[in-house]
Amino acid sequence: MTPVRMCQGCRTRRPVEELIRLKYTPTGDSLIAVDGTSRLPGRSVYLCRDHPEDCAGRAHRSRSLARGLRMMEQGIPLEDVLSALSHARSKEE
Ligand SMILES: [Zn+2]
Repeated sequence: MTPVRMCQGCRTRRPVEELIRLKYTPTGDSLIAVDGTSRLPGRSVYLCRDHPEDCAGRAHRSRSLARGLRMMEQGIPLEDVLSALSHARSKEE
């Protein structure tokens, strides 16, 4: 059985292969990293793989991104999310 998770932006439930997993990484250059291997510790959220920037924007506006990562107090810069996404995409290509 393929695990199903919910996109934090559009709230759609999809198989994990169709989602990108984001992690809060306080030790990295950016607060957010794309977790391709699902092996990093800590809280994570998912975004649709086919349009992650759209869903990141929605999740950011509704604050569900910060809530999902337990970062309500600090908040999450949308730029960090978008740069993590574009970084992961450039690695895939
Ligand atoms: Zn989505």
